[in-house]
This record gives sequence, C-alpha cells and structure tokens, in this order.
Amino acid sequence: MKIEQILKNRDKGVSFEFFPARTEKGRQSLERTIGILKQYNPLYVSMTYGAGGGDQDRTKDAVALLLEVKEFEVMPHLTCLGAESTQIKELLDEYKSKGIENIMALRGDPPQGINDFDFAQKDFSYAIDLVKNIKGYGHFCIGVAVYPEGHIEAASIEEDMEHTKQKIDAGADFAVTQMFFDNQYYYSMLDRMKKKGIDIPVLPGILPLTDVAKVKKFASICRATIPRHIEERMQRVKGQPQEMEKIGIDFTIEQCRQLISNGINQLHFFTLNKPQVITRILEAIN
Ligand code: FAD
Repeated sequence: MKIEQILKNRDKGVSFEFFPARTEKGRQSLERTIGILKQYNPLYVSMTYGAGGGDQDRTKDAVALLLEVKEFEVMPHLTCLGAESTQIKELLDEYKSKGIENIMALRGDPPQGINDFDFAQKDFSYAIDLVKNIKGYGHFCIGVAVYPEGHIEAASIEEDMEHTKQKIDAGADFAVTQMFFDNQYYYSMLDRMKKKGIDIPVLPGILPLTDVAKVKKFASICRATIPRHIEERMQRVKGQPQEMEKIGIDFTIEQCRQLISNGINQLHFFTLNKPQVITRILEAIN
C-alpha cells in the first residue's frame, strides 16, 4: 500500500529506518533488529541507499530481506547524484516488479573531499529532478527529506524552504525530517511550510541520542543542534557508556513525549540497526 494512504488510515504509529549490512555479522544483526521491531506494527520501514559505490547493491539485498518479512510496507531510499536516468529506470522497474510502491527520493551527497563538485554534471542535480522522474514513471508514492534547521548547503532557511516547496510541488506525497533535538525547530519548520501552502504529512525523524560525541560529529555535518544542557550532562559521564546512554535515551523519550503531547502521533526512528535502544524508547512512550 502507498505510505500516503497508510498515514491517512493510521493516525498513530512509528516507522523505522535501517541501513544495509556490510558484513555477514551485520546482516544477522539487521535480521535480528527487524525481528524485534516488527512487533510494533510499523507504519512502514525504510532502507537507506549509499550515495555511490557498492552500498547500492547492499541496499537491494537488504530491501529483499525486508520484503521476505511481509508484515509491513517497505520503502527503499534512492539517491540521484551522479546517477543516469537509465540506471534509475532499471531500479524502478525492479522495485515495481517486486511489489514496492514507495520510494524515498533523495539527492545524496557529493563524494567527500571534492569542494568544487559540479552538481549539474549528470542527469540529476537535485532531489527535485528525481521526484519529477519518479512522478513521470508513475506507480510510486514519493517521500522526500526536509530540514528543520535548514539544509547545511543552503544560504538561508528561507532559500531552503523555497527549494523544499519546489521539490514537494513536483510530486512528493510525504516528507521525513532530518534529525533534530529541539522540537521547536520542527514546529517552526511546520509553520514555514504552512505559510508556503505545503500540506503533506511531515514525519519527525528521531535519532536516539546515545553517544554524544558520535552524534555531535554527525549532527555538525547535517546541521542539527544538540541543546547545550544535554550535551553538558552527557559529557560529564564521558567514559561511562551505560550512564551516558541512559541520559541520552531519557532525553529522547522526553522529546517523543513532547511531540506526542503536541499532537504529533506518527514518528520516524533512525534505528541505526540497534533494536534495544528503540525498544526502550517505545516501551516508555507506549
Ligand atoms: P535536495 O532537496 O536536492 O537539497 C539539497 C540542497 O540543494 C539544499 O541545500 C537545497 O536547498 C538545495 N537546492 C535544491 N534545489 C536547488 C536548486 N534548484 N538550486 C540551488 N539549490 C537547490 N543520503 C543518502 O546518501 N542515502 C540515504 O538513504 C539518505 N537518507 C536520508 C533520509 C532522510 C530522512 C534525510 C533527512 C536525509 C537522508 N540522506 C540520505 C541525506 C541526503 O542525501 C542529504 O541530506 C543531501 O545532502 C540532500 O539530499 P536532499 O534529497 O534533501 O536534496
């Protein structure tokens, strides 16, 4: 079923994002993660896609693993930077033949270490080009990424919202946010979207804050601010991973509770293929 429809039918629920395994051990861990998290009857599950190189085949394998479960809707991510339309069509044909009805359409990131990367060098420059392509293909419900604090490359939050509007108008059916740790960024983004006349579901992307140093590094490259008070509390227990994890998970539980108390009842979790952390959060928020 199309996720757009699922989100209309079920006004409460969670979705889970996984990443493809790189090793046999990773594959077993992914299988275990799926086995544990399926009990929460997710709205849908998604699988990330490497922006270049071998990860793409791994994504297809991991998507096949999810499809075997048959208990939830599966959405592969797809990035377009550096791709050619023929490749994209082949992949869409393959996904369609496997019964997939949803695609997360993303631009992806340029290869690391290239400062003057030419975004216009191939068939796709931005996610909007992929959205238009998939829309033209038909069949698929399309999800896109949105950024509560603005995308890192955008000159301003307003400019980013203008691009977001164009991308959504091109045919996106729903959106998932980048991680954020202060709900005000999410609410402000929803306000900006409303002012622009954007009216699609926007699922908040929740990343459990378990290891502050790792998350901080990641957050700095995708513009997500970690509130000072929580960073300081976590830094104080540096070297005590269990204590740090507990503080972080309690913080994420509170973040989810506040979203729910503000009427946001569909949450998207970046699971990092770690079911125990997600389970603790879900049990706490009921
Ligand atoms: P776009 O919407 O194209 O935006 C990228 C930048 O270009 C923005 O700054 C935007 O303002 C600007 N822009 C857009 N249109 C124009 C224009 N016409 N002219 C000038 N500037 C413009 N990456 C992966 O590699 N694999 C994944 O599986 C993956 N999953 C993700 C899931 C989620 C929920 C999120 C939030 C991100 C994910 N990403 C993934 C990361 C994503 O690929 C990067 O954030 C990437 O930098 C931007 O992708 P986008 O689709 O938002 O791009």
